[in-house]
Amino acid sequence: MVTDQNIVLDQIPFIVDEDELYRKLRIEKDGEHAGELQEIIDLVSPLICPKAVFKVCDVETMEDDLIEICGVEFASRVLRKSLQEVDDVFAFIATCGNELENLNIPKYDFLKVFWVETVKEMALDTSVDFFTDFIKKEFKLEKLPSMSPGSGADNIWPIEQQKQLFSIFGDTEKLIGVRLTESCLMIPNKSVSGVCFSKGTEFIGCKLCDRENCQKRRAVFNSELKAEYAV
Ligand code: SF4
Repeated sequence: MVTDQNIVLDQIPFIVDEDELYRKLRIEKDGEHAGELQEIIDLVSPLICPKAVFKVCDVETMEDDLIEICGVEFASRVLRKSLQEVDDVFAFIATCGNELENLNIPKYDFLKVFWVETVKEMALDTSVDFFTDFIKKEFKLEKLPSMSPGSGADNIWPIEQQKQLFSIFGDTEKLIGVRLTESCLMIPNKSVSGVCFSKGTEFIGCKLCDRENCQKRRAVFNSELKAEYAV
């Protein structure tokens, strides 16, 4: 496998798991909203197409809290500490795809907007699972911890560094239909970016994040580790 180029995964299989969607939305299959929900499923199913791009990047740790990934400089103590024994990382962007961005659903139709967002989230989960399984298989890796700019507390890896991360890939909109806003949010909103690596602590961001009631938490908060990282 070529390791210094963008690897685009744009044929990720995705079928809306209707049972799972009904369960997530707490809608009964013979309930009052079932007909409308089925219309949404029929509308989005032929369109939605999750995608991902990744690139194998050299890592150079520098002085203070600086680190270079693919020749691009980042400033994050946690990132630097997490990658100190790592020679290369997989920079990545995964997305639900931009096919549902301009659906003809009024913004005030909150229920249907929420249903579409839930499908997009399921597509994003599929994209993340697909590209991580792909990397593990191709590179024969057992585990793949990851970090994302803006995930968890502000000072872990500031969201503003999305700009540097995106610069690693070039024209991300052309590659997989994802762009950054001025405030460094991703469009489509159901997208995730970051770096994953073969050594180090699993789910480091969650271990350092004391946010309560996060449904996406993948590891318990560790106050001792937070003190060790001094963040
Ligand atoms: S606990 Fe939630 S908000 Fe905090 S890093 Fe984990 S997923 Fe992100």
